[in-house]
Amino acid sequence: MTSSAELFATAQKLMPGGVNSPVRAFGSVGGVPPFMVGAKGPYLHDADGNDYVDLVCSWGPALLGHAHPAIQDAVHAAVDRGLSFGASTPDEGKLAQLVMDRFGGVERMRMVSTGTEATMTAVRLARGYTGRDLIVKFAGCYHGHLDGLLAAAGSGLATLSLPGSAGVTAATAAETLVLPYNDPEAITAAFARHGDKIAAVITESAPCNMGVVTPEAGFNKFLSETTTAHGSLLILDEVLTGFRASDAGYWGLTGRTEGWVPDLYTFGKVIGGGLPAAALGGRAEVMDYLAPLGPVYQAGTLSGNPVAMAAGIAQLSHATDEVYAHIDEKSLALQGALADALTAAGVDYSIQVAGNLFSVAFGTSEHGVHNYAQAQGQEAYRYAPFFHQMLDSGVYLPPSVFEAWFISSAHDDAAMNKIFDALPGAARAAAS
Ligand code: PLP
Repeated sequence: MTSSAELFATAQKLMPGGVNSPVRAFGSVGGVPPFMVGAKGPYLHDADGNDYVDLVCSWGPALLGHAHPAIQDAVHAAVDRGLSFGASTPDEGKLAQLVMDRFGGVERMRMVSTGTEATMTAVRLARGYTGRDLIVKFAGCYHGHLDGLLAAAGSGLATLSLPGSAGVTAATAAETLVLPYNDPEAITAAFARHGDKIAAVITESAPCNMGVVTPEAGFNKFLSETTTAHGSLLILDEVLTGFRASDAGYWGLTGRTEGWVPDLYTFGKVIGGGLPAAALGGRAEVMDYLAPLGPVYQAGTLSGNPVAMAAGIAQLSHATDEVYAHIDEKSLALQGALADALTAAGVDYSIQVAGNLFSVAFGTSEHGVHNYAQAQGQEAYRYAPFFHQMLDSGVYLPPSVFEAWFISSAHDDAAMNKIFDALPGAARAAAS
């Protein structure tokens, strides 16, 4: 078989950077990215014949591991019925209902194909509903690659040290207020100054794109109360955390017990079971502003695609309490092993946690990481040697320190032991 090195060399002639999503180019860790040819359970297989325990899980979607039999069967059956009808199908409602059953305050949903589309539509809807222009976002939060939300956006932009994106007009950027995360005073000040112009605050339910950052206790509730008090909307971005941080995302660990719901949610990743499906949902009064009922336009040739709906329904139907208990337990064990290895190697670190999602931040033990400035201030250079040592030992980590680590319900003891065995050497590499 053609090697990853040969495939990457060819790809670089065909696609910018050889990739279709920037972080895959291994820019911040260096080296040749392994080209994957298959995946099963907790493992990825590359073109060079290597197997890796996968801690990326397709950046979130593979909640049940790769090629889960129930999802594969559902997809095969859906494929046999036809790939795309360009018309409504029974499964769209079934998937919507599965989401509504878990997340409070979802009275209507609209299926789209990517998380970016979901947040883009949520922002337009918030503007259409409120008649206001400004959107508040937090530095370090990533909501997809829509123009208005790329400023200080974490994820690949953090990896590449980009403050924003070229190609975004000044007029568009001026309609986004970027505030520091976990800073209620900054929110209060922004609303005192611009309150009647703010259409919405959009926030990751728990930030996972500047590495993981734990929302301070009550922070999301404060956002909900503040937006409500000023007649603007709260858009809770659960694209990454939804059906992963808990059965009801990070909202399930906050809003569900604190007794609040956002006006709008965005979903993606897990709800598509590995195929392109995403959604926005929320209060009927707001959602019904979407066409065909309302004046806010949104549409999609492949929205609610029947194969993607079948994969999503299969995945959510198997996302049982046992699945979350398993992932929570393995996540805690991995955090412990990581802490032990780094401590033994004399590396300064903090482990940032949001439910079962976590990431490591080097040189941050004194204060932890509560915002983007602290995330960027870490000893990020320690990650590349750590990452490559793990890769050489057969563990595939996110190729950037600014990303969360993902575990699936397929990560069994054999897979976990392979990770545990790799950690001490990687920690020593990070120390040097
Ligand atoms: N929102 C969040 C919180 C994300 O993490 C992402 C992607 O990582 C998106 C939105 C965009 O989703 P997509 O990549 O499907 O466009």
